Amino acid sequence: MVELREVTKTYPGGVTALDRVSVAVRAGELVAIAGPSGSGKSTMLHLLGTLDRPSAGTVLVEGRDASAMSDRRLSALRASRIGFVFQHFHLAAGVAALDNVADGLLYGGVPLAQRRRRARLALERVGLGHRLDHRPHQLSGGERQRVAIARAVVGEPAILLADEPTGALDSASGAGVLGLLRELAGGGTAVVVITHDRDIAASLPRQVRMRDGRIVHDDAGLEAAR
Ligand code: ADP
Repeated sequence: MVELREVTKTYPGGVTALDRVSVAVRAGELVAIAGPSGSGKSTMLHLLGTLDRPSAGTVLVEGRDASAMSDRRLSALRASRIGFVFQHFHLAAGVAALDNVADGLLYGGVPLAQRRRRARLALERVGLGHRLDHRPHQLSGGERQRVAIARAVVGEPAILLADEPTGALDSASGAGVLGLLRELAGGGTAVVVITHDRDIAASLPRQVRMRDGRIVHDDAGLEAAR
């Protein structure tokens, strides 16, 4: 579904954040990217999400070479195929949950009534059908993250990328969010989760561990070697 092939990322100033990294995530997989701070996790997520371009190597999204696409085509690809979830939710303040989620469809040119209908379904799917009119400040942290997930998946992306999605949550809310991510993967979405929490990483079906810009462990690699 999404793949890095021999990807290197060097930032201006000379930091090599990723060093010839290869990783492929298939439909329905739920993958944890783990590793210490500075090991290259965010850089990897940005490259998987086509938010940044590699210095060398290839990024494939659903088999298409993202490294060769124009910025415009990349934005369109991102808007339709990739959903993002962040540690601090990134919801619009003062905007009802329903409209926060409906705005996830703005880029696709979907008419307002349909955006809202699909947003309601997405919120029901994450268990928030009873909170449609709540503003973010009226929701708990766990509920906010569920709104953010609904927004990320309302356009039915093939790939969901989450950067420390449970980092700002208590453990019960975090477990709820992880359960939701599992369900989405069960439905065929390729889900990639950055976490520095070892227990969370170990609880997911596949763990990729990073250190100094390199993959030092990948459960998928072990499977392949068996
Ligand atoms: P992690 O997410 O594992 O903490 P990052 O991918 O954020 O790691 O960072 C990897 C390395 O790249 C670090 O040494 C960091 O300082 C460096 N880095 C990250 N972003 C930039 C940037 N925009 N410019 C320069 N260096 C960066």
